[in-house]
Amino acid sequence: MENITENTTDSISRASEAMAGRSACTAWNPDGHKGGMDMGERIFLSSPHMSDEGYELQYVHEAFESNWIAPLGKNVDEFEKEMSEKTGVKYAAALTSGTAAIHMALKAAGVGSGDIVFCSSLTFAGTVNPIIYQNAVPVFIDSDYETWNMDPEALERAFQTHRNVKAVIVVHIFGLSADMDRIGEICRRHNAVMIEDAAESLGSLYKGRYTGSIGDYGIFSFNGNKIITSSGGGMLVSDDQERIAKVKFWATQSREPARHYQHEELGYNYKMSNVVAGIGRGQLRVLEERVAKKKAICEFYRKELGGLEGVGFMPQNDWDEPNCWLSCITLRGKVRPLDIMTALEKENIESRPVWKPLHMQPFFRSYDFVGSHVAEQLFENGVCLPSDTKMTGEQMDRVAGIIKGVWR
Ligand SMILES: *Cc1c(COP(=O)(O)O)cnc(C)c1O
Repeated sequence: MENITENTTDSISRASEAMAGRSACTAWNPDGHKGGMDMGERIFLSSPHMSDEGYELQYVHEAFESNWIAPLGKNVDEFEKEMSEKTGVKYAAALTSGTAAIHMALKAAGVGSGDIVFCSSLTFAGTVNPIIYQNAVPVFIDSDYETWNMDPEALERAFQTHRNVKAVIVVHIFGLSADMDRIGEICRRHNAVMIEDAAESLGSLYKGRYTGSIGDYGIFSFNGNKIITSSGGGMLVSDDQERIAKVKFWATQSREPARHYQHEELGYNYKMSNVVAGIGRGQLRVLEERVAKKKAICEFYRKELGGLEGVGFMPQNDWDEPNCWLSCITLRGKVRPLDIMTALEKENIESRPVWKPLHMQPFFRSYDFVGSHVAEQLFENGVCLPSDTKMTGEQMDRVAGIIKGVWR
């Protein structure tokens, strides 16, 4: 084993960038997959997993049969209906990505130039970029150790020091629920719209309710690395019928109902295609199976790695029934995240650091941050372990064996 003792944040960034030569910047990528087919068996963090029954292809086939290879169409309408039934939210709009869904949620919430939007810092850039698209101003909020998500106390402090706060984007990172009762109460008291970024947490329950169904708006992603995928896509859900109708209008270039092309507002080309929606519908039918497997993977790691010196796991809360999208550990002892990532990569197994907080990203450095060092610490000490639902028992044993080997 190489004993790598550097532990600064920058060295983690550098080393993971070097490793990403093979595995790029999303948790799964086509190049890695191609290579993996040659070598037989690269083990991924989280990669697409179509149903054994072939549901996805059936729906795509229907689209072909009817020649409905277009944005809008039956699969799109049905996918929206099925997602709203699944999550218990009244209305849904199928869009091209989770990022587009956040963008439309912000616009629907009335966020515009100069407005402040509070946003979890420990997340993917897709959460925050749409704030900039709207010429609004993000303020990043730290995590707490109890949830790894937005710290309600930091949120409350942020409201004391900032005015014109229009909206709060609260993320359920890795499928763990944020402290929604407290965050919801704070948002209501300060008249801020609450947008839930449930891109990673489809199927996670907070006090028996689906994450994404609790805020004023919820968004989901069907990108290739998520718990289910449509090859790329997103969904915005809300109980506000008028706002969802408006989003569908904006997402189709704000085309007015007229015989000619008439436009009275800025528009976007954000509607999901009927083919993509077919894949999404098929995947939704196996969501619970995927959640069960992800949970089993998480339990397996707890059992196998729990006894190792310095290893901590993701938090467990009474209210929370996570989908376990990614299984992550933290390291407090002699073994550093890089030791584990290097050992796994040598065996053609993908792992990666916990998200680098947005307030530490060069592009977002000029924006305010409220909190201390929790998100930063999670980044410095965390590792996301292979959580692919296609992993066999044998492969899981191999991964655990390699990780345990680092302690020897
Ligand atoms: C993946 C992801 C997004 C963006 O979703 P896309 O469909 O890739 O645009 C947003 N937020 C979080 C937390 C994500 O993990």
